[in-house]
Amino acid sequence: SVDVAWAIDWVRRSAQTISEHRDELVELDRQIGDGDHGENLDRGFRAVVAKLDALEEPPAEIGDVLKLVATTLMSTVGGAAGPLYGTAYLRAAKVTGAAELDSAGVVALLEAALEGIVARGKATTGEKTMVDAWSPAAEAAVAAADAGGSPADVLAAAAKAAAVGAESTVPLAATKGRASYLGERSVGHLDPGARSSELLLADAAAAAA
Ligand code: ADP
Ligand code: MG
Ligand code: MG
Repeated sequence: SVDVAWAIDWVRRSAQTISEHRDELVELDRQIGDGDHGENLDRGFRAVVAKLDALEEPPAEIGDVLKLVATTLMSTVGGAAGPLYGTAYLRAAKVTGAAELDSAGVVALLEAALEGIVARGKATTGEKTMVDAWSPAAEAAVAAADAGGSPADVLAAAAKAAAVGAESTVPLAATKGRASYLGERSVGHLDPGARSSELLLADAAAAAA
C-alpha cells in the first residue's frame, strides 16, 4: 500500500538510485549544462536520508516525509533543480496529509508535484526540462486511476510515462534553463533533469510494487 512506510522506502530508494546514477547525470549535464546535476542531487538525497535516520519518531503522515525531502533539497541541492524539486515535494506534501493514499490520492500527489515544478520554472512541455517527464506521468496517472487501477498501478503507469517522456527530450532544443543557452546545439542530448525525474518516479513505483 501507498503509506508512510512507502514514502520512506521511496526516499531511501531515491537516494540509492541517485548515487548509482550520479556519474551518468553529471555526464548528461556536462553535455548541455554545467555538469553538476548528479553531484547536486546526490548531495541532497544523502542529506535527506541523514535527516530521516535522525528522526526520533516515525512520521505520522506521508506529507511529513515529503516535507522533510522538500526542505532538505531546497537547502542542499542549489542550482535550478534544488528549488524545482523542493517546490515539487513541498506541493506534494500539502496534498498528502494522510497515513495512506488511495488511487485518487496518488494522482493528487503527482499533479501537485508537477504544478510545483511549473509554478517555479514556468516551463511547459516540449522545452526539454523535467516537465517533459512529470507532465506525461501525471496524465498517465489520471488515466490509470480512471481505469480503476490500484495506487501501485497508478504509480507504475506514471513511471512508464515518465520514461517515455524523458526520452522525448532527446530531439528537442532547450528553451528553458541553462541548456537553452546552447539553443539548437542542445538537440540530440537527453535532459538531465528529465532523466533524474524518470529515476525518482521509477523508485516511487518500485516502492509500491
Ligand atoms: P543548474 O542548471 O542550475 O546547474 P541542475 O543541473 O541541477 O541546475 O538542473 C538542471 C535541470 O533543471 C535541467 O536538466 C532541467 O530538467 C531542469 N530545469 C532547468 N530549468 C528549468 C525550468 N525553468 N523548468 C523546469 N525544469 C528546469
Ligand atoms: Mg547543472
Ligand atoms: Mg549548476
